[in-house]
Amino acid sequence: MPELVASIEKLRASLAPLRRAEKTIGFVPTMGALHRGHQRLLERARTENDILVASIFVNPSQFDRQEDLEAYPRTLEEDLALCRAAGVDFVFAPSSQEMYPQRQLAWVEVTELDENLCGRHRPGHFRGVATVVLKLLQIVQPQRAYFGEKDAQQLAIIKRMVADLNIPVEIVPVATVREADGLALSSRNKHLSEEERRVATVLSRALFTAGALIEVGERSPQVVQAAVEPLFAKHSDVRLEYFSVVHPATLAPVEIITGRVLIAAALWIGTTRLIDNVTADPKREPTVL
Ligand code: AMP
Repeated sequence: MPELVASIEKLRASLAPLRRAEKTIGFVPTMGALHRGHQRLLERARTENDILVASIFVNPSQFDRQEDLEAYPRTLEEDLALCRAAGVDFVFAPSSQEMYPQRQLAWVEVTELDENLCGRHRPGHFRGVATVVLKLLQIVQPQRAYFGEKDAQQLAIIKRMVADLNIPVEIVPVATVREADGLALSSRNKHLSEEERRVATVLSRALFTAGALIEVGERSPQVVQAAVEPLFAKHSDVRLEYFSVVHPATLAPVEIITGRVLIAAALWIGTTRLIDNVTADPKREPTVL
């Protein structure tokens, strides 16, 4: 059974002797409501480290809407069972008071990378993410930390934070885990009604379609966007927040596609916001069917 720890001091006291004994520590930060996506990160981390730490913390400072924070699913019992099955040694589940005992005055901002995509639509979100991830890295001090490619902008921002601030940790990206029909696993999928869940597949279908168009030779992001728009227009309860073709490292919009690109999108279905992304490489040989 993993040890459930709520106190920063206790976690540090437990990890210090292990670190002195030169055990490697792998870390998977999460907001809980764990699913097979998180499980993939844990499994990968389990194979690469002696000690596995997972955190479960619904970080208030990264929510731009109070109702989203309040409605965020919290399923600690099930989460612990999943962590146990995945061989987690420590589950760090602090309270907000433990993480933010006083008004936070020090914030981490990774400029430029937060300007497009989700950053444009969720003011302050990535400042909250970068700050809590740095706090967690300081608490756990892992050799490796694992992040999903599902949150591509988050991954790019964390990688850059670690590089720019000389944080001694290896950031390990993990591929997106999907349902059989293509929908990327997300804790927020729990909010979808049966009908919304069916409609939600439009997001991955549009991204795969866009990726395929690029890989068979389309070079104009505008043409790609125009080609997928009718997929969304069919559904009246769906609102596309953005659908963008960007450079995978700078996240800046691409004018003409000449190399590998990230295609990222955010979609509202009713009151639920979903994000997803794929990469496409125009230099890949088109598959001859
Ligand atoms: P969250 O609990 O949503 O903050 O996610 C915790 C970590 O799990 C983040 O690094 C996410 O990118 C990753 N993650 C979430 N969903 C998936 C998924 N479907 N596939 C792979 N990783 C995921």
